[in-house]
Amino acid sequence: MTAPATQTHSLLERLGVPAAALRGGPLSVRSPIDGSTLAQLPVHSADDVSRLVGEAQSAFLAWRSVPAPRRGELIRLLGEELRAEKETLGTLVSLEAGKILTEGLGEVQEMIDICDFAVGLSRQLHGLTIASERPGHRMMESWHPLGVIGVISAFNFPAAVWSWNFALAIVCGDAVVWKPSEKTPLTALACQALFERAARRFGAEAPAGLSCVAIGLREIGEAIVDDTRVALVSATGSTRMGREVGPRVARRFGRCLLELGGNNAVVVTPSADLDLAVRGILFAAAGTAGQRCTTTRRLIVHESVREMLVARLRKAYEKLAIGDPREPGTLVGPLIDRAAFESMQSALAAAAEEGGKVYGGERVLADTRPDAWYVRPAIVEMPAQTATVRHETFAPILYVLGYEHFEEAIAMHNDVPQGLSSAVFGNDLRETEQFLSAAGSDCGIANVNIGTSGAEIGGAFGGEKETGGGRESGSDAWRNYMRRATNTINYSRSLPLAQGVRFDV
Ligand code: NAD
Repeated sequence: MTAPATQTHSLLERLGVPAAALRGGPLSVRSPIDGSTLAQLPVHSADDVSRLVGEAQSAFLAWRSVPAPRRGELIRLLGEELRAEKETLGTLVSLEAGKILTEGLGEVQEMIDICDFAVGLSRQLHGLTIASERPGHRMMESWHPLGVIGVISAFNFPAAVWSWNFALAIVCGDAVVWKPSEKTPLTALACQALFERAARRFGAEAPAGLSCVAIGLREIGEAIVDDTRVALVSATGSTRMGREVGPRVARRFGRCLLELGGNNAVVVTPSADLDLAVRGILFAAAGTAGQRCTTTRRLIVHESVREMLVARLRKAYEKLAIGDPREPGTLVGPLIDRAAFESMQSALAAAAEEGGKVYGGERVLADTRPDAWYVRPAIVEMPAQTATVRHETFAPILYVLGYEHFEEAIAMHNDVPQGLSSAVFGNDLRETEQFLSAAGSDCGIANVNIGTSGAEIGGAFGGEKETGGGRESGSDAWRNYMRRATNTINYSRSLPLAQGVRFDV
């Protein structure tokens, strides 16, 4: 296999990011594949961020008046660029985030899908007409572009999260300043280069400053968060980050869209098709090395099938090919870094102390990849939903909990601080419908007979409680990126006041 740095540089060059842009700066970008350095990236300062937001603000003032379907054309062109470079960008995602290649490609496909969705949306940014109580009056809602959108993203979806926000924001008439994770800034530079290609083809109507990338650590995120010209901060990452960002944006009455941590569970009922359940759980729990916000972290299984299901899962886990994510056949790539490995090990130790029986979880490939962090995904049978289980550890650990009555399963399911994704496996309509009902799963995503991860872009994506409450991607999530104006138009010759109020002189 080619050295990650050599491969990364040639992919970036192809995408239009020159090698000179990757040298001489203080930010070391490493590949989780072998821990080697991919770039020493220059970083922005808080003053640079202020300048970029200013440029984005000027771009917004011009862009908001371009008709929405025309704005959609720019995103259509971006979709074309992504199609043409799917392999290049997908491989880059693998190199920088450590995802297996098919997931890297899948991430780019998701970007293409959201571009298509946004193009259609550009002709559907519609409001309501509302019956007025006054004669000769009409009421309606208009949706207008919002302003500068600040996107702060996490390492584990280094490209797709941006595109979910970006494609919608651009058709909605906004400009975007993106602060990617400091662990995956190269993918962000590549996305920006692809956007610039699309913008060149689009022509002068796309103002400079419509899209920019601010590179740096969390201070750069904070500069975006505190800038009053940023109308919406869309932040994806840990609950810790959201707890800091939310109140800061609220203090200046800005808008926030938070996509934070999950602690997703699968409930397996006695009527479940266990073949389906094993496949669904395997991908959702061990795929992406457990580093998806929607990764299955808890398995709540009926006692009558618990032993059999755990035995089958353990067998499947043993067959998981762990290794270089670029190798065909690999199913589990590396953890992002040493800190991720250490937090996994301390969670496993804490779970064992709380009475958990741990299978797997050990480091592998340490001899051939001493600077990388590969692990065997872990299954931990727990006696109860302890403090460790209730916490999101961003690594492949599946905690198994048993239940007797379905109500008990739902109560246990909901008894965690997070509320992102959930699933039930079963063929008893009463139970599966109960899971989806108001008295069932309290998550933003609730599935039947599929796992918790791998959402499609057509639905609104996000979750409740400590997951932050935001919704991105499909359905009506576009409304986040626009402001609503309620209009009342009087086409009569009199001026009746609402609610029958009289004010005559
Ligand atoms: P992280 O919170 O460490 O960092 C996320 C981003 O926030 C980075 O760009 C970081 O620089 C920035 N940041 C951190 N503190 C900040 C602050 N105080 N102000 C402004 N910006 C700040 O998260 P991570 O380790 O990159 O990603 C893993 C986490 O992200 C997990 O908890 C995962 O569940 C979550 N996640 C959630 C979703 C979702 O859609 N709900 C999607 C992907 C990841």
